[in-house]
Amino acid sequence: MSTVRKSLCVALSIALLAAPALAEKPKKAKYVFLFIGDGMSIAQVSAAEIYAKSMAGAEPGFQKLGFTQFPAQGLTTTYDSSSIITDSASAVTAIATGNKTLSGVINMDPGKTKRYKTIAEYAKEMGWRVGVVTTVSLDHATPAGFYAKVPSRGDMYDIACQLSASGFDFFGGGGFCQPTGKKGDQEDAIALAAKRGYTVVKTAAELKALKPAAGLKVIAFNETLQDSMAMPYEIDRAKEDLALADYVDKGIELLDNKNGFFFAVESGKIDWACHANDAAASIGDTLAFDRAIARAVEFQKKHPNDTLIIVTGDHETGGMSIGFAGTKYSTFFEKVAMQKGSYIAFDERILAPYKKLKGAGGGNVADLIAPMKEWFGVDYAALDEPSRELVDRAFKRSMKGEVERATQESVYNLYGGYEPLTVTLTHLANQAAGIGWTTYSHTGVPVPTYALGAGQSLFDGYYDNTDLFRKLVAVMGIRVAEEKAK
Ligand SMILES: [Zn+2]
Repeated sequence: MSTVRKSLCVALSIALLAAPALAEKPKKAKYVFLFIGDGMSIAQVSAAEIYAKSMAGAEPGFQKLGFTQFPAQGLTTTYDSSSIITDSASAVTAIATGNKTLSGVINMDPGKTKRYKTIAEYAKEMGWRVGVVTTVSLDHATPAGFYAKVPSRGDMYDIACQLSASGFDFFGGGGFCQPTGKKGDQEDAIALAAKRGYTVVKTAAELKALKPAAGLKVIAFNETLQDSMAMPYEIDRAKEDLALADYVDKGIELLDNKNGFFFAVESGKIDWACHANDAAASIGDTLAFDRAIARAVEFQKKHPNDTLIIVTGDHETGGMSIGFAGTKYSTFFEKVAMQKGSYIAFDERILAPYKKLKGAGGGNVADLIAPMKEWFGVDYAALDEPSRELVDRAFKRSMKGEVERATQESVYNLYGGYEPLTVTLTHLANQAAGIGWTTYSHTGVPVPTYALGAGQSLFDGYYDNTDLFRKLVAVMGIRVAEEKAK
């Protein structure tokens, strides 16, 4: 079945299950959690559920996650002002402000002159406390969508400076990508934040030691940062490192107050894993996301009348699907468990040192047969001839250090700008499990949205990502008369 027809069927079946729109006013919530799984649509969620079930050693099936059992569920379209396929910047603008804009633009109109006020800023104005947590860098598009307005998501220094100008109460997760600007000649954004009254913590011990206090404003950088100043993938996380759930716990502790709070939490590397076509890393982060959401559910149980938890994706990434030509009607998700770490950890720990040792164009694929099996479960000797040729060719390209992302379309289609050997191995491993990919970018299929708590029924049905803003505004009791004035 085509992707379009498949998503249509999902849309229809969910719409049929949805409750009719309520005539009465929605119940108000003063504790609002907005969880965004970046790049997370139904395939990413399903892959995690099928994997969890296969690990339980049971018959084929889905072991439901906590958030997929939320009572209200909808489907959300994600297109932006110029494309069916959004990016994270225009997607978060839609969710946080209710406006469509161009890919790459954060909280400004397509003409890049008007600035939109965000749901988090409205919450702050109402006297609520506000938190923003992400597994990627804090100046990345999705977290920035709650506190920054920039014509380009690449203006990460401006974003970092706007972060501390927001006055929001708690920021946690990754670091800053450009703390002193693109050229390294600007005032340090971390020092600026401290000057503006933020307590900046950089270790797990410091974060754990923080206690709620009047006027306390916190920026917590994760002690271990992996690629692009992000927290490590869950599959690579050391036991002593904090998980996303720990940030949700600390956020709740610091934000809790009688007026209310708005807490945005992004799992940003579901997207990054899917860009790289790495299902094991995506599944690991989706399961960790569910554990983080469970902490909010614990809070909701204590405050059932005025807490709302929303879980959504900003778009799908990778064109992930359950089913591959080579495995026909079968899946073998237990094979996903054979992967020992993410694609990026393989690059860093195995491939990069090997390349350094052998030099450009050197080496022999035979040297990496053991690591390939150990890391990805790919048994080179057992591969058929075409697959082995793919590995050999990718090995040579990786060893030559070729960067051909933009120049050669045929090469881009094979490797997407990633390490040729590594992405070939994730493809082979995923295909053996029965998982397929169509792209290294985003796709235009809708995303599921889940809701639990006060006003939950508003989130049933089939609607656009800009409607998420309007629904949240209704539940949070925000007046949006000056929505576009700021
Ligand atoms: Zn995104």
